[in-house]
Amino acid sequence: MTGQKVWTSYAALSDWGILLARTDPTAPKHRGISYFLLDMRASGITVRPLRQATGSTEFSEVFLDRVRVEPEQLVGAVNQGWDIAMTTLAHERGTGFAFKEQVLQRIALEDAIALARTRRRAADPVVRQEIARRWIDVEIMRLFNWRTLTRLERGEEPGPESSLVKLFWAELTQRLHELALALEGPHAQLAEGRWQQAWLWSRVASIAGGTSEVQANIIAQRLLGLPR
Ligand SMILES: Cc1cc2nc3c(=O)[nH]c(=O)nc-3n(C[C@H](O)[C@H](O)[C@H](O)COP(=O)(O)OP(=O)(O)OC[C@H]3O[C@@H](n4cnc5c(N)ncnc54)[C@H](O)[C@@H]3O)c2cc1C
Repeated sequence: MTGQKVWTSYAALSDWGILLARTDPTAPKHRGISYFLLDMRASGITVRPLRQATGSTEFSEVFLDRVRVEPEQLVGAVNQGWDIAMTTLAHERGTGFAFKEQVLQRIALEDAIALARTRRRAADPVVRQEIARRWIDVEIMRLFNWRTLTRLERGEEPGPESSLVKLFWAELTQRLHELALALEGPHAQLAEGRWQQAWLWSRVASIAGGTSEVQANIIAQRLLGLPR
């Protein structure tokens, strides 16, 4: 295989990646694709980590040059890869990160409230309104997660509804970290502390796991039935 689309797991140097390869060049765009597990230690694979604004390297460019893939590495049936990829992505967006993020965003909100108190901003009615809105956001995230758990309990897939969770979380975390920097005031521009780093990382939320524009397209087309 050369020059195919590869997904790796969130560790850049993970041992296994997902390879989507076109196995029927004559089939329409989303058909004729097969899903393989790719041994990232195989010869011909070059992983080049990409450095982010936070300084860390959570994802990479992956280059394939005459990589050999065995039939045992195929997942599901030949040419059914797109459907399997959609299920994988729905889990990434709906179950892979969302429960952890519910807890992390709740902790960030509590820390932001503590920050408002130490900066003597907690009595400011505008600040209080913003905190209340962020609190409502975190509650909505919790209810989204409950809905996902209910679907899983019924034996249903997370489905395109997972794009609602992903899109909502991306906006939630960005709004919450904007609030924290606003509470730090002008000092936020000088410091290189916890909130600055977390604000930078919150920018990832609308890109990784599929951008917010792509989630909006999925919601429009697959949930609302709107035209492309
Ligand atoms: C921190 C981080 C970690 C990541 N981790 C991983 C990982 O572990 N594994 C992995 O495989 N990938 C990972 N990624 C890659 C991530 O999934 C992609 O960056 C993301 O899906 C966007 O794809 P792209 O970069 O090719 O941008 P493009 O698809 O080129 O998009 C560029 C711009 O065009 C817009 N756009 C594209 N298509 C459409 C459309 N149809 N309609 C409207 N707008 C559109 C996008 O919204 C975006 O603004 C990570 C990215 C980041 C930032």
